[in-house]
Amino acid sequence: MSQPTQNQARRRFLKLAVVGAAIAPIAAVLLPRLGFAADLPHLTADDPTAKALAYTDNATTATANAAYKAGSECANCQLYTGKAGDEYGPCALFPGKSVHAKGWCSGYSKKA
Ligand code: SF4
Repeated sequence: MSQPTQNQARRRFLKLAVVGAAIAPIAAVLLPRLGFAADLPHLTADDPTAKALAYTDNATTATANAAYKAGSECANCQLYTGKAGDEYGPCALFPGKSVHAKGWCSGYSKKA
């Protein structure tokens, strides 16, 4: 191997090492949050934050809540990141938990 080729390989390795070192902490924070929706424990109504936000896994039971609007449910909420058709998915308000696609809470924000 010639000297310029070795230097290029060294530079490439160092660039990858720097990029890898920069990405590692970000990935360590984000990956568990992205998680696999199926692996996340389901949010239950007895969770303190769920109680505070009047979460229910059945939006049709939230009609008595003044903040509830007909047709609102997690699946069409801006904070819901579950896949279409999945029964449960992650919600930005409840990191580490999955919410029911047909659920609702007072933090609802209509998807744009
Ligand atoms: S913020 Fe949206 S997705 Fe999350 S629980 Fe409330 S209604 Fe559902």
